[in-house]
Amino acid sequence: MSFLDFFFPRFCMHCHRPMPSIRDGFICNACAKEFVLSDGGCCQRCGRPMLPEVAENLICADCLEMNPSFQCGITLFPYKGIGRALIHLLKYKNGLFLKHNLRALFNQFTSKLNVFKGSTFIPVPLHYFRHWQRGFNQSEWISNLLSQHCQGEVKNMLVRRRYTRSQTYLTREERKSNVCNVFSLKKRDACNPDVHYVLVDDVFTTGATLNACAKTLQKGGAQRISIFALAHG
Ligand SMILES: [Zn+2]
Ligand SMILES: [Zn+2]
Repeated sequence: MSFLDFFFPRFCMHCHRPMPSIRDGFICNACAKEFVLSDGGCCQRCGRPMLPEVAENLICADCLEMNPSFQCGITLFPYKGIGRALIHLLKYKNGLFLKHNLRALFNQFTSKLNVFKGSTFIPVPLHYFRHWQRGFNQSEWISNLLSQHCQGEVKNMLVRRRYTRSQTYLTREERKSNVCNVFSLKKRDACNPDVHYVLVDDVFTTGATLNACAKTLQKGGAQRISIFALAHG
């Protein structure tokens, strides 16, 4: 037992059992195994996990209908169980301490995440009021870790022009109109058509927010746009 472990005994944030070492992060190995990782068949466009036989088409029904402005998407786990718990810790419990756990997850997905190597990561912006309320933007935080993993850079190129209702209880159509014309590019940051941009959010639900951001980048001249979200809901 190290000096730190002795003075700061650690408990798993999910199952509350004591953790063997402070270096394991805040979710124990047993809970970390509960992650059902989306490394099987998934929609190439939005990263939605799909049954292998359905995934043969490679594009999910929602993407066929939405025809999003992004070309490729990766999500790591479904938004349920431990995956949901992790997102909640991150967003509502100021869970920046989950760094270790996220790095471990990224390492498991290295081959999949290779397509983002050297990309420019753009966090989905929060309205300044919510940013102030929460103290940090979780998407920016995820972008920072991801860019380190993929040797890219993070650029806060987008602004959220108005305060929108939380998307949580809205229908698909309401979500779309709720984020319509909400995002814009920061003035001097015109997009470079040769750069691969990756929009980053914590959860992909209907894709309305990420698609609204992608449209804004496209208008600014971006040609290669992908998305990344930790969870697919
Ligand atoms: Zn646990
Ligand atoms: Zn899809």
